[in-house]
Amino acid sequence: MPSRERVYRTEAVVLRRQEFGEADRLLTVYTPAHGKLRLVAKGIRRANSRKAGHLELFTRVDLLLARGRELDVVTQAEATDPYPGLRDDLLRLGHAAYVVELLDCFAIPEGNRPLYRLLVETMDRLSQGLEPAPVVRFFELRLLDLVGYRPQLFSCMGCEGEIRPQAQYFSSREGGVLCPECGRGRRGAQPISLSGLKVLRHYQRSPFSTAVAARLDPEVHAEIESLMEAYLTYLLERRLNTPGFLQRVRRLMRGELSAGLLPGMKDPAPASMSAESLEERVPDPAP
Ligand SMILES: [Zn+2]
Repeated sequence: MPSRERVYRTEAVVLRRQEFGEADRLLTVYTPAHGKLRLVAKGIRRANSRKAGHLELFTRVDLLLARGRELDVVTQAEATDPYPGLRDDLLRLGHAAYVVELLDCFAIPEGNRPLYRLLVETMDRLSQGLEPAPVVRFFELRLLDLVGYRPQLFSCMGCEGEIRPQAQYFSSREGGVLCPECGRGRRGAQPISLSGLKVLRHYQRSPFSTAVAARLDPEVHAEIESLMEAYLTYLLERRLNTPGFLQRVRRLMRGELSAGLLPGMKDPAPASMSAESLEERVPDPAP
């Protein structure tokens, strides 16, 4: 918990915003030392609010907070990185929304500085325009490490035997791989190709620059994406909102979907949309 001082300073990333009362907003932010906080920003929706431009969704911001009876109050806000590269690209914005949704679902109330660092590095990579898919797969594996759900990818969850270089199975329930003997016919075990397993292992034990240096084959990526989604859904005991949204954005970009099928989408060219209109399209993360 924040210290007992009446005011305190922290940096944060804005995860969620919600209109509140006539001119206020409720914010959910993630901070290095206090974990996830719910805050109120008073008067922020007034035209003359000096804080407004500094508290956009997915912005990194320095905050001065006053302790309130229920919620702490934002007294000063200064954006230190608005991640401009996220604002003009629907795919990047969608991936940022996914990162934030996952963090929001897993974030424990206590501070976790490595997790905060992972969040800002990931937002930075997406904003810089790096290929979003590997950035996000890397984020998922590091997040799982940091919140205590690191999948076991090197020995069988059934017989503890070393995993040999061949196709295997993955069990979300058991939290790792199963050798062909243990995995075949086992309830909840799904096949994983040798290439898929290699990529996951490589991402799990390499620093970012090494992990993403190798080209990710689209078919292998699709496999590990769906495997990670199954594992995360199992851990969270619910479906995430953003993967379905991202699927629709990708289909739209490949021309397989007409713009009308994406909720709220009026303009078929995502690059031409304003940040404000993009923000409305990103599904709300978990309540
Ligand atoms: Zn086994």
